[in-house]
Formats: sequence, structure tokens, C-alpha cells
Amino acid sequence: MLLKHFYCTRCAISFRSFSARLKHIYDSPYHHICYICFPQQDFAKMVELDEHLGTEHNYCISCDIQFETAQKLAQHDKEEHNMCVTCRQFCGSRSSLSNHMTTHI
Ligand SMILES: [Zn+2]
Ligand SMILES: [Zn+2]
Ligand SMILES: [Zn+2]
Ligand SMILES: [Zn+2]
Repeated sequence: MLLKHFYCTRCAISFRSFSARLKHIYDSPYHHICYICFPQQDFAKMVELDEHLGTEHNYCISCDIQFETAQKLAQHDKEEHNMCVTCRQFCGSRSSLSNHMTTHI
């Protein structure tokens, strides 16, 4: 029954030890951990973790910076990453952002 402790339900694999299971979670492309949360949250997809970091922690993954407020992150995303604040879509450049903004008028 002890084996149950080291079972990964998501991947349906059992492990001999706790550390083997932990290593699997770190290495696996099917686990994406938020290290800011306590207890740590495990996401199935990278995009889900990205979304979580942005909405829950005001965190910019590309720059590895955490902001105090969602407004500060939005401001940063707009200035540094040419993000459209209306639909949170990233545009490649400043000109494509201003091009994109015309769709909201
Ligand atoms: Zn797994
Ligand atoms: Zn989190
Ligand atoms: Zn950034
Ligand atoms: Zn937009």
C-alpha cells in the first residue's frame, strides 16, 4: 500500500521513492509547478501556469519580475512586451500593437 504514496495519478506511473516521484514532477513536461504558491500548485499545461502566474502573482515570466499589483504588470506588459491592455494579446512590435489597437476603436 505504501506504493500509493509515490503514485502520479496524472501520468499513471508509480515510483519507488518520494524523491523519485519529485524528480519526475520536475522533469516531466506534464507538470508545471507554481513555486510561489503554498502549497505549490501543479498545472498540466505550461499555458495554465503562465496564466496563473500572471493573474494570481502579477508575475512576468519573460523578465522574471513580480509586481505588487495587476496594474503594474499590465503597464509593464504594455511597455516592454507590446501587450494590448484591452484583450491581453501580445503584439510583436510597437507598430503592430498600434495597428492592433485600431481594431478596438
Ligand atoms: Zn506525472
Ligand atoms: Zn501560484
Ligand atoms: Zn516582462
Ligand atoms: Zn487587443
